[in-house]
Formats: sequence, C-alpha cells, structure tokens
Amino acid sequence: MLSERVQNAMNNQITHEMHSAYLYLSMAAYFEDQSLPGMARWMRLQFEEEKEHALKFFDHLIDRGARVKLQAIPAVEVDFASPLQIFEKAYAHEQKVTGLINDIYNMAREENDYASMKFLDWFIEEQVEEEKSTGEVVAWLKMVGDSPNGLLHLDHRLGKRKAEED
Ligand code: MG
Repeated sequence: MLSERVQNAMNNQITHEMHSAYLYLSMAAYFEDQSLPGMARWMRLQFEEEKEHALKFFDHLIDRGARVKLQAIPAVEVDFASPLQIFEKAYAHEQKVTGLINDIYNMAREENDYASMKFLDWFIEEQVEEEKSTGEVVAWLKMVGDSPNGLLHLDHRLGKRKAEED
C-alpha cells in the first residue's frame, strides 16, 4: 500500500504531467500559426508523451490500490516571442519536472517504498532524455540566430522526429 504522502505526490504529478502536455500543445499551436510545421509536430509528439507520463502515474496508483484524484489543470501561456524563447521555456520546464520527480523519489525512499522507487527509475532516465532533447534544440536555435534558411532547415529536421514506441 502506498503511503498517504507518496499517494498525494503522485496524484499531484498526474496534474503536472497533464500541465506539461497542455503547455506543449499550446506551443504546437504557436508553431502551426508561425508556419513551422516541423516544430509543431515535435511539440505535438511531446504532448502525446506527456499524456503517457500522466497515465503511468495513474496506472501505478491503481496497481498499488490507491485512489486517483484528478485535479484542475492550470492554464498555459498562449503567446510566445520566438522559437528560441519557446524551447528555452520547454528546457526550463523539464528541469522543473526533474526536480518534482526527484522529490517523489526522495519521499518513496524515506517510506522504504521500493516498488515506487523502481517505478520512478523510468522517469529519472526519461528526464535525462527530456533535458537533453530540449537543451539541444535551444543550442541549435542559437546557432541559427536570425537566419530564415537555418530556421527552415531546423524545422525540417525536427519534423522528422519519430513517435515513441513503448
Ligand atoms: Mg513528463
């Protein structure tokens, strides 16, 4: 059985993951509006991934006999300044999520909840990937600078992102 605090933290994490999904969907909408379909696709796939993350916590709670309590998803920004600003926000957002996952891991460790620690291992690895992939695009966008050519090339490249098979 899950402790009350791990249970609450995991319920909160479902909201955080759905909030991430919503944020990336909003970013996808911006890119569609800016005629950058590759970046829009990248963000749309990110949206799909975040929903999967929420479902993983959902399933873990159910598997452990805990109650799922869904909460309101906070509103997200709809106006952005540039592709670089968006990916910087995405990178900062993923760093924040890493901190949240680490906090739950610490809690599980304090409770000797080995099953949750094992479950959270997947997320710890995933966050390394998330920070790497968003940080990489930030670096590329900085290289591109004000070059429309470079931006279109990068858009094309990001549009080739494959959906995750899990
Ligand atoms: Mg996530």
